[in-house]
Amino acid sequence: MNIKRILKGAGIRSSYGTMGAAGVVLIEDTRRILVDVGHFGIRDPLLREMNRAGVQCKDIDAVVLTHLNWDHCFNVDLFPNAQIIVGVDEMEKGTLSGVPDGITPAFKSYLSTLNVLTVSDGYKITPNVSIVYTPGHTPGHVAVSAKDGKSHTIMTGDAIPNLRAYRRGMPDLAFYNETMARESVSKIKSLKPDLIIPGHDAPFTDQGYTELDSVDIIMREEQEVNTVLTFGKTASDRPVVFNA
Ligand SMILES: [Zn+2]
Repeated sequence: MNIKRILKGAGIRSSYGTMGAAGVVLIEDTRRILVDVGHFGIRDPLLREMNRAGVQCKDIDAVVLTHLNWDHCFNVDLFPNAQIIVGVDEMEKGTLSGVPDGITPAFKSYLSTLNVLTVSDGYKITPNVSIVYTPGHTPGHVAVSAKDGKSHTIMTGDAIPNLRAYRRGMPDLAFYNETMARESVSKIKSLKPDLIIPGHDAPFTDQGYTELDSVDIIMREEQEVNTVLTFGKTASDRPVVFNA
């Protein structure tokens, strides 16, 4: 089994609103599985990085949408041969925005034209890859457990969006139910994964980050010059501005 981050998740918010950069992870087992697909703002990077990884959209057998928040699911139309796997309660009660909105019914009706499979806790996508039901952030949020003889990785989506949420025992946002959100973090911890790949952060273990991601924030100025701020993390987990 091979697990590769196609797109890195990042917790990018601004005084103008969130940019919602959810991570996209490829699991190559007996099936090729994508965990989350991101929104239109990361569509081009998604296609570029899939290409770089040598995988075509038509070769993806299954797409797991950890939940139906907009930043995780909009590019679902790119995968013509994929089974789309969604938590059963998410299909019933989940929304694009986290709260009731007018766009979700149209999106769900689009989803219903695809090969959608709604799943519960423990559903096996392959013998090594299974669904961990993790509600609370949203009604039917799911995480994905990938376990072979060597190691156990859990892609946690926004049940655990980042390292600080893991340490706090609670995601940054619980749109549906805070108690369930806490229980879902505990549930993931009780599975004792070797590695967590969260929805909006670099991978980590109990000891901290295993990779130190950085992200460029690019602002287009009046002149043909961009202001680029590169943010990263030090080994102490502190975000820093590398240059400005
Ligand atoms: Zn998210």
